[in-house]
Amino acid sequence: MVLIFDAHSFKKKVYDVNIFYYNINYSCNNKCKFCFSHNTYYNNIKNITLEDVQNSIHRYDISYEDRIIVNGGEPTLHPELIDILSAFKSTKAEIIMYSNGRRLINKRFCEDVLSNVDRIVIPRHGKQSIHDIITQIDGAYQETIEGIQNIINGKFANRLELKFIVTKSMIDSKFSIIDFLKKQSIIDCNVVITGVVPTKVANTHKNVLPNQYELGEFISSTIWNYLRRSQGRLKLMDCKLCILPVSMREIIEGLTDKSLPIQYVYYFFDSNITKGRIMSYGNERKCSNCNMKIYCRSIEDSCKVLELNRYEKRIVLE
Ligand code: SF4
Repeated sequence: MVLIFDAHSFKKKVYDVNIFYYNINYSCNNKCKFCFSHNTYYNNIKNITLEDVQNSIHRYDISYEDRIIVNGGEPTLHPELIDILSAFKSTKAEIIMYSNGRRLINKRFCEDVLSNVDRIVIPRHGKQSIHDIITQIDGAYQETIEGIQNIINGKFANRLELKFIVTKSMIDSKFSIIDFLKKQSIIDCNVVITGVVPTKVANTHKNVLPNQYELGEFISSTIWNYLRRSQGRLKLMDCKLCILPVSMREIIEGLTDKSLPIQYVYYFFDSNITKGRIMSYGNERKCSNCNMKIYCRSIEDSCKVLELNRYEKRIVLE
């Protein structure tokens, strides 16, 4: 990530970054009802190899100024994961990995993964019964919780970010994100709150996509409780701000804006595209005449999201 300074004011002007996004595999041990990774459901194509990764690091001269995202499928199922992560780590780039956390139940493996990433993002789908229904795997909830606890009790607790994907089932079950964080003794954990992206898969299942009104109410009370009780940061995406109650919109508008313009080039890799391909992935909401437009983010448009804490708001990279 490069900070461009204004010569006169010496103020930071723009964040300029190369993002290298790797779907290193498409196999997964969950079968989430709204899987965002199309190929996981339909193609199950080959893995990216360690050699592919090393070649791409050299080809793009990936370095400390860059950001690397490791996803899948489920990356922890990749047999060369630790070698791939340590190859990425040797570049000194910022490394973010997405995982359902189930294989982090193995303490030693958990430590090996966490020691090679700057952030690990683990999705949560609600109470045990709801989580196992959404993932369509009995026992997925318990394994993920044990994986999360291994992170929290380990040396790298501050690298954890929990992503709550708000389905109709989560709302109907009256799940409380704050109570969950308290129960796990991680009230200051950074979180992501997101609506469900209406993927092809999501549209084939019941009780996945909530209506806009219930989503707005649920997300609004979650933001309110989180900002009041946590010192952490909350990222918000795929929730149209205009569905939030006026009172919550006013709270967001009232927060001090600490955003800096972000510009990025996005490179995508998987086992079919081992040389990488630039993706045009940086659109804004199309709504006209809306004063909330820059804060109203969808991961379908770009990887810039709204981040909130008690006092401030800013647009950041997901
Ligand atoms: S940009 Fe404005 S009008 Fe459009 S969805 Fe977001 S809040 Fe609603």
